[in-house]
Amino acid sequence: MAKLSQVDLTDLNRSMEERTPQELLAWAASIFGKRVAIMSAMQKAGSVVCHMASSAKLPLKVLFVDTGVHFQETLETRDRMISDYGLDVITLHPKQTMAEQSAEMGVLYLTPDGQAKCCDLRKTEPLMQATSDYDALISSLRRADGGRRGNVPILSIDTNTQTLKINVLANFGDQEFNDYIVRQSVIVNPLHEQGFSTIGCNRCTTPVLPDEEKRAGRWRHLGPWAMYCGINPTDVDRGGSPAIELPGELIDKILGRNDDFVI
Ligand code: SF4
Repeated sequence: MAKLSQVDLTDLNRSMEERTPQELLAWAASIFGKRVAIMSAMQKAGSVVCHMASSAKLPLKVLFVDTGVHFQETLETRDRMISDYGLDVITLHPKQTMAEQSAEMGVLYLTPDGQAKCCDLRKTEPLMQATSDYDALISSLRRADGGRRGNVPILSIDTNTQTLKINVLANFGDQEFNDYIVRQSVIVNPLHEQGFSTIGCNRCTTPVLPDEEKRAGRWRHLGPWAMYCGINPTDVDRGGSPAIELPGELIDKILGRNDDFVI
């Protein structure tokens, strides 16, 4: 095994800026094969990535964390990704139901500390159970969503899951994003049409007013500082140059190094 750090990715990230989301998906599939999957929470950005993968017939699995307290519309969107797009969606579950968790620990999502613990138990832990099967995960974060996502790199190191995160929509602007959804008739979670700009658990997500920030409806009951659950490491400022361990040959492949010298 060898180390791959965020600094190692600097030049590659620069060259990736020229690629379309579809080209980035094809790159991910060619480099990682079965050891890469798409992460989707069944919001519209995730649906766009799923549509692109399905259209290109890329054999990419989709990981969906079912926290047990999703809106019915979110679960139905997941089901349509399977039936209409033919995708292999793997649904991951927390160990306890919300009722069991609340009986044991109280209603965690009502306080800031409790929310962090609840998100950890119901989102991060289920995802972690699956990540040993993958060296890379495809995410759908977009810079156009602003906030901490305003500078998200295309390739980022995720020390939590020990994977390379590939944010294929990072530089996909609002106009081209919305045009793609309309032009391709992408299946999107119907809650987006009901005032939800982002969609998470039914306990912690509300619609937003037209002049509010996109993420104002997340954890509204906890105040404006609670906007991210921490499942995406680029939402949390950890500083430095994080690194993960991957097979040396794979790192060479990622970085485009060629060892086949002819003397
Ligand atoms: S969003 Fe709310 S209900 Fe869902 S896991 Fe986080 S704290 Fe729990």
